[in-house]
Amino acid sequence: MTIPDPQAVTVLGATGSIGVSALDVIGRYPERFRVFALTAHDNDELLYEQCRRFQPARAVLGEDDRAARLRRRLQADGLATQVDSGPRALEEVAAAGEVQTVVAGIVGTAGLAPGLAAVRAGKRVLLANKEALVTAGAVFMQAVEESGAKLLPLDSEHNAIFQCLPADFHRGELAASGVRRILLTASGGPFRDADPATLHAVTPDQACAHPNWSMGRKISVDSATMMNKGLELVEACWLFGLQPDDVQVVVHPQSIIHSLVEYLDGSVIAQMGNPDMRIPIAHALSYPERIASGAQPLDLFQLGRLDFQPPDLERFPCLGLAQDAMKAGGNACATLNAANEIAVAAFLDERIGFMDIPRLLAAVMEQLPSVAVSSLDGVLAADQHSRRVTRDLVKRFEAGRRT
Ligand code: NAD
Ligand code: MG
Repeated sequence: MTIPDPQAVTVLGATGSIGVSALDVIGRYPERFRVFALTAHDNDELLYEQCRRFQPARAVLGEDDRAARLRRRLQADGLATQVDSGPRALEEVAAAGEVQTVVAGIVGTAGLAPGLAAVRAGKRVLLANKEALVTAGAVFMQAVEESGAKLLPLDSEHNAIFQCLPADFHRGELAASGVRRILLTASGGPFRDADPATLHAVTPDQACAHPNWSMGRKISVDSATMMNKGLELVEACWLFGLQPDDVQVVVHPQSIIHSLVEYLDGSVIAQMGNPDMRIPIAHALSYPERIASGAQPLDLFQLGRLDFQPPDLERFPCLGLAQDAMKAGGNACATLNAANEIAVAAFLDERIGFMDIPRLLAAVMEQLPSVAVSSLDGVLAADQHSRRVTRDLVKRFEAGRRT
């Protein structure tokens, strides 16, 4: 029997929460996976450690001076890794002929171009970067269809839905596949039961202290506002060809059921597991096989119970804003996503309050009604416009807070 060559993998966003978890799984299987490229925005220290361990052919950083420092250090260690910087290099390592699998783990709209480059090059793309689908879902999914790329969701809920759908599910054909609807679970974040009157005083560290998941700061704030579930609703619609009304959000505080598929006959299939991103990552890396991920096995006896409740749209207006944006179509989701990135960054910088995030987003959505878009340029123009409008509003909110 011949052992196949290991799969060559590029990890975009290697130093982030997703990237570190992906490398943890990859590192367990040197005979299955070989790292071709690792990328990071500014953490050249961790990228150096990762390059020493995985000895990739390529590494990419955001800025020239950090790339030069990494290059010098790796050369001094006798490693032949080619180190580059900037967005063009990100696209190159995502689309390189040597690569079979790309882990798309960059946060925010910055992940769109390299993710799309991987799709257009027909790679197996393990997608964590939900913002790519939220902003440019139509362009992204069309590229998947045209190139024959294999798109596998890493977001735990979408990975769960993928696992619960029939193996021969055709995108958009719910009833023909015997499916009635999708139940998208949400933990409700750290403020699920908080008194709404106290939410204005929440600090960035409180918002980032997620009860079940350890994640990057941007997605942690999104979980606290429940914008994360809004973005995930949009992500699910594009991935599986759904309408917003095909998806019911279910608050499930324990984060053990990662989502469910309800069939026409009344069967409901759930995917369960401890909240550990290595589970969906291992699933997607080895699909259709199964490999050990390093996650703790689920202990149902210790768990004892699972709870469910409907989402409170008054307490968490971001979820409703995302539903409205998906229904409006056109560039509305790109506008909302960009406004959210600016608003979350302003909150993390303590320039605006926690409850200013939904207020700001509602104001931007009112100011920028949806316009049809058909190209990536159109999406990026909407993204930039929304950022400008939101930055101006942040200044006004800030001034309001001081007076
Ligand atoms: P993170 O902040 O921990 O890491 C982000 C990574 O992207 C880092 O490696 C960083 O260097 C890189 N990066 C940041 N800005 C960049 C830029 N401008 N250009 C190039 N690279 C850049 O984020 P994360 O929590 O790992 O999330 C990554 C993505 O995965 C997000 O889209 C998030 O929504 C999604 N996701 C994360 C989790 C999770 O458990 N962390 C779960 C589901 C989905
Ligand atoms: Mg998720």
